[in-house]
Amino acid sequence: MDEDIICIGCGAVLQSDDPQKAGYLPKGALEKAKNEENTDVYCQRCFKLRHYNEIMPVDLNNDDFLALLNSLAEKKALIVNVVDLFDFSNSLLSSLKRFVGNNDFILVGNKFDLFPKNSKQSKIKDWMRQEANRMGLYPKDIFLVSAKKKLNLESLISYINDQSQDKDVYFVGTTNVGKSTLINAIIDMMGDIQNLITTSRFPGTTLDQIEIPLENGHFLIDTPGIMTDNQLATHLNAKDLELISPKKPLKPATYQLLPGNTLFLVGLGRIDYLKGESTSFTVYVARNMYVHRTKTTNADAFYEKHKGELLTPPSPDDQMAPLKGKEFKTEFKSDLLFGGIGFVTVPKGCLVKTYTPDGIGLGIRRALI
Ligand code: GDP
Repeated sequence: MDEDIICIGCGAVLQSDDPQKAGYLPKGALEKAKNEENTDVYCQRCFKLRHYNEIMPVDLNNDDFLALLNSLAEKKALIVNVVDLFDFSNSLLSSLKRFVGNNDFILVGNKFDLFPKNSKQSKIKDWMRQEANRMGLYPKDIFLVSAKKKLNLESLISYINDQSQDKDVYFVGTTNVGKSTLINAIIDMMGDIQNLITTSRFPGTTLDQIEIPLENGHFLIDTPGIMTDNQLATHLNAKDLELISPKKPLKPATYQLLPGNTLFLVGLGRIDYLKGESTSFTVYVARNMYVHRTKTTNADAFYEKHKGELLTPPSPDDQMAPLKGKEFKTEFKSDLLFGGIGFVTVPKGCLVKTYTPDGIGLGIRRALI
């Protein structure tokens, strides 16, 4: 009989359908366990955790996430929302505001290594705070870090140690913000704690959580990543995601534009310059990303002809919605935001229309540079 087997590490039901979900085990290994009636089995995530001290991300849908948040509200906790500085508005968890309650909450902006070299940390933090406030969230502190390059992690770790004297620390975040990379970097910097890491089930959900012991007897708890439809990352295949993700600090590329001109950022972003003077638009995207300038009157035809080839990604196999636009008027020098792709700095006094698939990740902020 085909009975469910439970992972002895985290208690999730073992499955081989979705590597991103809890309890994943490759098909061969799961069948072997079933054939041999072996019930002493770890899921791939717990296996890696035990043997390589490495945490793999697990994704959560919104219902599971709400259950998780509900249980947080009843606890004394420090809540750490890890966000992607390149997709900030979509990785900030607005639903947190209902659950933070009396708990402290901080924002950790990851991928800081990608910001242009001359960026001012104070300006970035001011922008994050304003955006958070606009969504009804009031972070006690804001950190800018790079999990990959291990930037500013010491100060984050010492803050966490200080603030967790009487409570546990919960890391929450949407998928692809780099939460796993960050937790792994923190584990790495905290030394050899492999045997102290435990996994246990989160009450109210079927998903496991990872508990990392802190010096003060409390725990840092890694919760599963939340999938949202508002992130380009969830719609792109792995190769395309790799292509648009910057690897090195962004460098400006300047384009001189007149009203009536359009810029394409591969097939994922478009800017129509509607009104203003002849001026330069400064593009900050991954270095190998193709940017194309054309006349707005030709833009639709150009896009239809070249999407999926010259304008790739998206590739034909990405399930991508059509481009949808939004108008912005710049009241000061501003960055037009294309969440997950980058941004474009334009001067004061321009009327533009920006587009992404279904309008995902579009926004504007006062220029940071
Ligand atoms: P998770 O889904 O939030 O757990 O995200 P991952 O840790 O799997 O990271 C998602 C992607 O972001 C991966 O391609 C990472 O290499 C990349 N990434 C994570 N942290 C950083 C960082 O600090 N800087 C840069 N440039 N990339 C990062």
